[in-house]
Amino acid sequence: MHKRGPFHFQSLGRPETTTLEEWSQWQWQMRRSLRSAEDFKSKLTLKEDQTQAFERNEIQKIFRAQLTPYYSRLIESVGPPLAKIGLPSVAEFQPGAQQMLDPLAEKRNSPVPRLLHRYSDRALLLVTDMCSVYCRYCTRKHFTGQDQLSLKEHELDLAIEYLAGQKGVREVLISGGDPLTLGDEILFRILRKLRAIEHIEVIRIGTRMPVVCPMRITDSLVQGLREFQPIFLMTHFNHPKEITAEAAIALEKLVDAGLPVFNQMVFLNGVNNHPAIVQALNRRLLVLRVKPYYMFQCDPSQGTDHLRTSVEESEQIVRELWGHLSGLAMASHSVDIPNGGGKTTLVPNFIVRRDAAEIQFRGWDGVEGIYKNPLHAPELPSDFTDYEGEWKQLQRGKEERRKEI
Ligand code: SF4
Repeated sequence: MHKRGPFHFQSLGRPETTTLEEWSQWQWQMRRSLRSAEDFKSKLTLKEDQTQAFERNEIQKIFRAQLTPYYSRLIESVGPPLAKIGLPSVAEFQPGAQQMLDPLAEKRNSPVPRLLHRYSDRALLLVTDMCSVYCRYCTRKHFTGQDQLSLKEHELDLAIEYLAGQKGVREVLISGGDPLTLGDEILFRILRKLRAIEHIEVIRIGTRMPVVCPMRITDSLVQGLREFQPIFLMTHFNHPKEITAEAAIALEKLVDAGLPVFNQMVFLNGVNNHPAIVQALNRRLLVLRVKPYYMFQCDPSQGTDHLRTSVEESEQIVRELWGHLSGLAMASHSVDIPNGGGKTTLVPNFIVRRDAAEIQFRGWDGVEGIYKNPLHAPELPSDFTDYEGEWKQLQRGKEERRKEI
């Protein structure tokens, strides 16, 4: 058990048949992952719709199924909410309102293989298509788990050459697949090449390993990552029961080493579509010093209709949370506009009426108030020219991206 504030994070433990040494090694977890229908049936109590999904061989064509022993044990212990994330269902074969192969139109925004450049100041580098667990709601099913494996040396060189020529790119997000399925040496080699590009300010690593294989957060990984600061870890907890003692310790190890961790939750039907679940998740993350960052609408990738919530349902959850969670514990409700429109944030509308002089609000608990605009004309800060050059460079980056697309 691991205690922080009022919360007790329970250890998942290990099966009696496995030694502590094996169980604690992330490489063992990867090697012993459940892959075949027989593996799943031997370790988990499957429901009828899950058994039927495995009986239809095409399930692996829709999206590969795989679980680490750690996450399968967690699913067996928690039951349906996490099973919906990790276990295939026949519902994936049913027609839905919207099922897209590439919901974010990522292929259109890929100037060189494995690199996505949608925004002027950010780029996304897909370093591997492998994950340790294949989440049934995954956005990038057209790429993830398709045996394209890790980025080859010449692909990395092409991506680095492209990024070096894009002076507007300030942040690179390393994603996939899950970058932390790569060994330390490969990961550090990629980071070294990125850090050699002077205009890259921040590197982010998107990973679900703290959730599905917390033993991946080893001392050597953490020490190695520190050398490439500033690095932000973007993780992906969807349910409070995913925060075991093992996961909590892994998260604290990252934060203690000066690596900020942000969480990106996805609204999922039957998993976390209730304000009680979301507040529980966000408060537990916050005591571990993980910032709840996004609450995403689930993207309409193939086989996800039964997992998605409507925008209205998610908005209602956010509205109910408003006023009960601090800004630190609250994440932004965001939609990735299908067909590559980029992200947009949805906030509850508290405006009753507005004109040029004032705005009338009704707050989360019904209290009304008016904000009046000042009477004076705006005065520009006297030193804005100190930063005008870098601002114009960012704007130029956007223009250049528009022309390229
Ligand atoms: S870890 Fe991320 S990339 Fe991998 S299957 Fe899950 S959502 Fe998709």
